[in-house]
Amino acid sequence: MKKTLEKYETEIRDLKELLEISKSLSSNLEYYSLLDSLIFACMGHARVTKAGLFIKNNLESKIFTLYRNYEGFNTDKNIRYEIPEDSEVVELFKKNTRCYTMPELLGDITDISAIKPFTFLEPTLIIPIVNKGNMQGMIVLGEKIENLVFPEEEKEFLLNIASLAAIAIYNAFLYEVSTTDLMTKLKLRHVLFHSLKQNFISKENLPITLLMIDIDKFKNINDTYGHAFGDKVIKEVTGIIRSSIRMKDVGARYGGEEFTVVLYGNPLSGGVKIAERIRKKVEESPCDYQGKAVTVTISIGITEYSPGRDKVPSDLIKRADSALYRAKESGRNRVIALPG
Ligand code: GH3
Ligand code: MG
Ligand code: MG
Repeated sequence: MKKTLEKYETEIRDLKELLEISKSLSSNLEYYSLLDSLIFACMGHARVTKAGLFIKNNLESKIFTLYRNYEGFNTDKNIRYEIPEDSEVVELFKKNTRCYTMPELLGDITDISAIKPFTFLEPTLIIPIVNKGNMQGMIVLGEKIENLVFPEEEKEFLLNIASLAAIAIYNAFLYEVSTTDLMTKLKLRHVLFHSLKQNFISKENLPITLLMIDIDKFKNINDTYGHAFGDKVIKEVTGIIRSSIRMKDVGARYGGEEFTVVLYGNPLSGGVKIAERIRKKVEESPCDYQGKAVTVTISIGITEYSPGRDKVPSDLIKRADSALYRAKESGRNRVIALPG
C-alpha cells in the first residue's frame, strides 16, 4: 500500500514537472533560447554532467548537426558531428521512438559509420526528438552525476520532454522563418514595430535606444561594382550589426540598405558607444571586389525612448530618422544622437 502511494506521488510530481516544462517550451518562440530550455530541462531532470543537441540549422537542411555541446563532451575539430536525415539511424528513431543507450543502438543498426558522431561522443543516452513521425533532432546525454543507470521511468519522462520539444521546436522554426529576412538574417520590419509596441506598454521602465543605420552612397556601389556586389556589401554590413548586439536586442531590415537596432536596457550614452563601434567596424572591414578592397561606410541616427513624448513606435522611429538625416547632411560616416 505504502509502495503504491509513493509510486503515485512520484507520478504526480513528474506530471507537474512535465506540465511546467511544457509551458516553458511552448511559450518560447525564440528558437535558440528554446533549445537552451530543452537542454537544461533534460540536464536538470536526468542529473547528467554533459549534454548536447543535434539539430537542423535551418528548415531546408537535410543534416542534423551538433548544435551546442554543453559542458563536457570532448569534441575534435577534425570530426564533423553530423547525422544525415536519410541515414539508417534516423529511420530507426522514427520507426521505434525510444531512448537508446549506445550498446542498444549498436545492436539495432547495420551501418555503424552512420553513427560515427555518437561513437566519438560516447553518450550514455540518446533521445530522439520526434513527433508524429517528424524528426526534429536528438538529445545526447553524458553520465549521470551519481554514475547510476537511467531508470525506465526516467527514460519515459525524457522521451515525453523530447516529444513536447518536437512540437515547440517546429513552431519556433516556423516563427523564425516567417519573421526573418533571408538575405540579412535580420528581423523583418514588422517585428521591430511589434517589439517596440510590446515594450512601450511594459512597466519595466528600462531605457530603450533606437539606431537607424543606412549605408552611405550605396547607389554608387551598385552602379560601380554591380548589384551582386551590392548584395554582398549588405550581407557583410548586417553581419557586423548582428555580431555587435545581444540576443535581447532587435536588429531589423527596415528597407533595402537601411537597418534598425533596438537596444533594450541601454540609455542613449551606452547606445552611442555601440553605434560608434558598429560604424568603426564597418569602416575598417573593406569588402573584397575581385581582389580590390572596397571601403564601405555607414551613417547612424540614434535616439532614446521618452515615455512622455513617444506614444507610438513611429514617434521614436521618426526622431532616429531625423538624426540619421543630420548624419548624412553633416558628411556621412558618423553617429548623430538626438535625446528623447
Ligand atoms: P545615401 O548616402 O544618402 O544613403 O545614398 P545612397 O546612394 O545610399 O541612397 P539611395 O537611397 O539613393 O540608394 C539606395 C540604393 O540601394 C537604391 C537601391 O537600388 C539600392 N538597394 C536597395 N535594396 C538593395 C538590395 O537588396 N541589393 C542591392 N544590391 N541594392 C539595393
Ligand atoms: Mg544609403
Ligand atoms: Mg537608404
